Amino acid sequence: MLATNQSEKALIFEFSKPGRVAYSLPDCDVPEVDVEAVFPSKYLRQAPAELPEVSELDLMRHYTELSKRNHGIDSGFYPLGSCTMKYNPKINEDVARCPGFAKIHPYQSEDTIQGALQVLYDLQTELAEITGMDAISLQPAAGAQGEWTSLMMIRAYHESRGEKRTKVIIPDTAHGTNPASATVAGLDTVTISSDENGNVNLDELREAVGPDTAALMLTNPSTLGLFEENILEIADIVHQAGGLLYYDGANTNAILGIARPGDMGFDVVHLNLHKTFTGPHGGGGPGSGPIGCKKELIPFMPRPHVVKVGDTYRLDDDRPESIGRVKAFYGNFGINLRAFVYIRSNGPEGLLRVSQEAVLNANYMMRKLAPYYDLPYGRICKHEFVLSGRRQKKLGVRTLDIAKRLLDFGYHPPTIYFPLIVEECMMIEPTETESKETLDQFIDVMIRIAQEIEENPAVVQEAPHHTVITRLDEVAAARKPILRYKSDKVQQKRGEVYEVSTA
Ligand SMILES: *Cc1c(COP(=O)(O)O)cnc(C)c1O
Repeated sequence: MLATNQSEKALIFEFSKPGRVAYSLPDCDVPEVDVEAVFPSKYLRQAPAELPEVSELDLMRHYTELSKRNHGIDSGFYPLGSCTMKYNPKINEDVARCPGFAKIHPYQSEDTIQGALQVLYDLQTELAEITGMDAISLQPAAGAQGEWTSLMMIRAYHESRGEKRTKVIIPDTAHGTNPASATVAGLDTVTISSDENGNVNLDELREAVGPDTAALMLTNPSTLGLFEENILEIADIVHQAGGLLYYDGANTNAILGIARPGDMGFDVVHLNLHKTFTGPHGGGGPGSGPIGCKKELIPFMPRPHVVKVGDTYRLDDDRPESIGRVKAFYGNFGINLRAFVYIRSNGPEGLLRVSQEAVLNANYMMRKLAPYYDLPYGRICKHEFVLSGRRQKKLGVRTLDIAKRLLDFGYHPPTIYFPLIVEECMMIEPTETESKETLDQFIDVMIRIAQEIEENPAVVQEAPHHTVITRLDEVAAARKPILRYKSDKVQQKRGEVYEVSTA
């Protein structure tokens, strides 16, 4: 299935030698249990599990070698738009590993975890200040879960007032999780389009709102990297129709210390601490997607909620109108702690600079690349921008090929084919933490690829050439994944034919 270079390595199963071990345990000094007396035989494995048998050194070398093939923010530039792959400060890790934080248990009594509760309480206070909201819940474990939590609160709010509002209006420049979260929350979505400047089409919005409007979800900056220019008017239109305003603040690194959703009229917001506030992310988590809301919605927030009574921090579980618990215990404490360290180590001026530099870097790169790739929206961008590869497509090269070619130069590609409204889209987020030299090197490579496409498109169409695994069959990789190693012997016994992925 895969095209491979010579450096392709065997799977660990393939250099297994019977009897070889990577450990030596002392002799057992307690009586062995007769498993057959404990478990019914139908649950017991008949033949021993087929596991690789290797020495400790071979084991270490194998996985160390594989780990070097990963691309992460600590190994290279990662301009994955909308995902904010920025530097994870190492002081965050130091603090998160302090035994007083790392070794506490969520079942400990409140009086023994006052320090941890104080961190959560202070973080709630800081995030309320940053977003202009009245209260924050740190429970949701991801941006999408924060969206869903907020929508459940919005539902509960309308129901508590005896109103039946079921529609959520979502612009076509929203993040893809917005309509998904609304659907999972049992609400109906209404999509409205954007105008030629990338703003919400106000005429369509006016037509869409009504007595059934539960909320509008606005991703701002949008997935085009643009700040909505008519935000106050949008807020008025939705509020006048009795709907609430939801702000997708996953990418708040564009506006820290500059603008606050609460001041723009928004009722609920979510943040992505694993983006804006430097929590390491990727690979599915753990993340943190706190939500903030205005006071009318506080009764519906998840419980328990961290509160301060006198000098004592407590977990308030007595919240009769709450939508309930949305995450085990109190959210992903380690990610919340890292965000707290990041906020405190930057301070208000530092956070303002974060956003100024995120926006400066994105605009710098956008202007440098504009002569070589089509720029569908020319106005000043925020933390990210989109290019279109439609000019290159006319020469037979697709955005996918450009992304593959970037791998040859050691870069993680930008987000591609999203947002859907831009043909052959590339969504690039340089982030605030990269140096001008890194930005310039990436710009040079993007320009070089544009030139290659004019002079020798095949080199881009067939990329990557210098990676361990060259061009994948994208469809087969998605539809027929080989997730488990099976030796020939097992395959034959079961009458199954599996390709071994090194073939
Ligand atoms: C990343 C992102 C989300 C979803 O966040 P997850 O933590 O991946 O669930 C939502 N909205 C926007 C704008 C995002 O960039």
